[in-house]
Formats: sequence, structure tokens, C-alpha cells
Amino acid sequence: AVSPTDEAETLAKAAERHLIQPWPSAGEIGDEARGLIGSGDGIYVTDAEGNRLIDGPAGMWCVNVGHRRRELADALHEQAMALSYNSPWYTMNEPSALLAERIAGHAPGDLNHVFFTTGGSSAVESALRFMQFYNNVRGRPQKKTILSRDGAYHGSTYLSASLNGSSRGRDWMDIADDLVVKLSCPDPFRRPLDMSIEEFSDMLVEEFADAVKRIGAENIGAFVGEPVMASGGVIVPPPNYLPRIAAICRENDILYISDEVVTAFGRMGDVFASKDVFGIEPDIITFAKGVTSGYFPLGGMVVSDRLFAELRQSNHADAMYAHGLTYSSHPIGCAVALKNLDILEGGLLEHAREVGVYFMEQLKTLEELDLVGEVRGTGLMACIECVADRESKNPLTLDTEVGRRIDQHCQELGLLLRPLIHMCVMSPPLIITKEQIDEMVAILREGI
Ligand code: PLP
Repeated sequence: AVSPTDEAETLAKAAERHLIQPWPSAGEIGDEARGLIGSGDGIYVTDAEGNRLIDGPAGMWCVNVGHRRRELADALHEQAMALSYNSPWYTMNEPSALLAERIAGHAPGDLNHVFFTTGGSSAVESALRFMQFYNNVRGRPQKKTILSRDGAYHGSTYLSASLNGSSRGRDWMDIADDLVVKLSCPDPFRRPLDMSIEEFSDMLVEEFADAVKRIGAENIGAFVGEPVMASGGVIVPPPNYLPRIAAICRENDILYISDEVVTAFGRMGDVFASKDVFGIEPDIITFAKGVTSGYFPLGGMVVSDRLFAELRQSNHADAMYAHGLTYSSHPIGCAVALKNLDILEGGLLEHAREVGVYFMEQLKTLEELDLVGEVRGTGLMACIECVADRESKNPLTLDTEVGRRIDQHCQELGLLLRPLIHMCVMSPPLIITKEQIDEMVAILREGI
């Protein structure tokens, strides 16, 4: 008989020979195997050795309703048997129309029009291409600069990746530098030591207003921002900062694109966080991940009535938004998303709100540990940032590799974490219970 570890080794060899993994280094490209995950159930996954691990990041911030949900598997199967695919170019399907209507019902203000993509990068790319189209049609072809921020992550396609804020992701890759202007990361923990949070917020808003003046509103198409920066380390911005940025955008005819690829579909206790949690009404919201809880690749953007009305009233009725994907409005993805939304609306949003508070309270107790500089987060998204020294807040550096060791220790103790050097970033499935949160925090305490 073939043992599970033999099988894992065979798979590792196949991967090393033939599989290209995301974000490989030049030294390992096309020659790398990663830890095998064999199965998932609820908040847990099982590795090659048969160890059951809490799925700390819910895959990649996406398995919101948990693994192995029969309802989602059935929805997927039933839709595949009814209609597995149709061309969105010249036909449409039932699940996409129903899902667009349901999503529009949850989106703030007059955001009523949904375009479906294959994931988050394609959602952000679609929103940016829409901004360009919108300004071309309105006779403002120079209005294309995009404002983004250090620490942001918006995707891996050319334009979306050009917005990313980490140098690690940019150093060796070409980006559309001429189109993007980066502003400061709104990270209260990393604010200048002598500044209050209010002063820090004022500084960020001033920087934004100055950038608009310097570049000229007539040259700026959009600001793109995550309500809470996820991959940047769960950066929760200072209170009121986002509404103030949104007001400047509105005054200056700059589209506010709220990237809710991580924060939507329950992660923060609501279907969308922009308005319900942060009090902003963007012009476009992008989403992905939690929309299907990762059971099928799907993303999209919701666009406001206002923008569509302007397009319809323009003098260019023949102008075409020449943008679409073979898998736009995929019937299986949309059917899975409908069922996923049933689960969220059927009590899981309330549950997420309730356990979210407990999650943060319990994680905060880890601030007693010497290595922990800050525990931050909101909803079911959190980050433990480790520091070499709590006074100076100097981060533990790469050469100490402590972040990697923390994730290894935690994995040995039964918790899967995303390795991010000095940060432990967590976003467990929303179905997590208080007892399971206790289990998670106990492992973190020992692991750190
Ligand atoms: N936007 C945000 C905020 C993200 O966190 C991500 C992925 O992590 C993306 C966009 C890109 O999404 P995808 O990887 O589905 O293309």
C-alpha cells in the first residue's frame, strides 16, 4: 500500500518538475514544492502527514463559510448539470442575473450594476479600465492618474499590480509607473513617534489634498484603496480618514474605488464594509474571494448609477467598453455565490460580528508577550506585529526570520499561519466558535 507520506513525496516531485507556484523566487522557479494540503473540514485542513490544522488565514482570506460545505458542493454540482457554461458575449444565464440583483441590494448608495470577473486582480483591472473608458467618453482623456498607497495590495495583473505598495513585489517586475502615484500607508502603529492618531490622520488627509493640487484634479482618474489593508498587515486606518479622503475625491471628480476583495462577504460582519463599517459611499466596489468562499474562482465590481447615467448621456453612444472575459458571469461561480450568500444572510453575518469582538479581545491578551509590538484588527481579520524592541518599534528583521519561525512553531502546534516574517496575519473562517478561538490563541501564545 502507498502511504500518505509516499504519495506526498511523489506529488512534491511532480510539482518540482512541472508546477509553477505563485510568487516564486528566481532561484526556485519551476523547481519548488510547497506543503501539501489534502483535505478540509470546517475551520480545519489536514496536511500530508495527517495533521489537523486550524486554517488561520481561511486559505487566502477566502474560505468564509468554512471547508466542506455540502450546500456549496451541491450548488456547484447542480449548476454544472443544468448549464456548465454559456457565452456572456451574446447570451446570459439565470444565476448571474439573480446574483447581480442580490449584490446590488447589499451594495451602498446607488451602486447597482455588477460586472463579474474571475477573481480580485481582474476585478481591480476591470474597474481601472472602466475609469479610463469613462474619462475618455466624457472627453477627459488626460484624467488617468491613479492614487494608491504604500502597503496596498491590489493584484497581479499589469495595472492592478502597478498599484501595489510593497517593494518586494515591484523590484523585479515592470509596472505602469507613469500612471500611479503612491501616498503614505495609513498605519497608526507606524506613525511618527511624536504624533497623536488625530494628527496622523490630519497629516494623511493633507498629503492627499496636496497630491491632488500638485498633480491637478483634471489629471487624476481614481483613488483605489482597501478599507482595511489586508496583505499589508491588516492596517486599520485612523477613524474618519477614509470619509475625509472620499470627500476630497467627490469634490474633485476623482472616482473612489473601494477594493473589498478581502473585506466583503462577512469578513467584517457585513456583506460590504465600505458604508456599513467605514461610512463611505464609493463609486465602484471590487470584490472576490468570500463571494464564493473560494469554492469557485469569481470576482467582480459594482458600479454606481451615476457613472452609467453620465455615459448614457454622453455624445458617444457608440463608444465601447471593450472589456470582457470568457468567464465573466460564469454560471457555476454565480450559483455557488448565491448559495454562499444564503449562508451569510442566514445568521453567519451576525455570528461573525459577535465572535469578531471576542476574537480581538482574546488576541489582544498576547500584547503581554515581549515580542509582540501590537495586536490589531477588526472583524475577523487580525495581525500580530512582532518587534525587536517595543520602545523603538523596530520590526524583527528578515535575518532573524522570527516570523517564519513563529509560523513553523504554530504549525507544529496545530495552527496554519501565512508566513509574513514579523507579522502573523489571521482571518479564520467566519464559522469559528469561541472555543476554537481560545484554541487558536493558546497556540499563538505558545508559538510566539
Ligand atoms: N485586492 C485585494 C485587496 C487583495 O487582497 C487581493 C488578493 O489577495 C487582490 C485584490 C487580488 O485578488 P486575486 O488574487 O483573486 O486576483
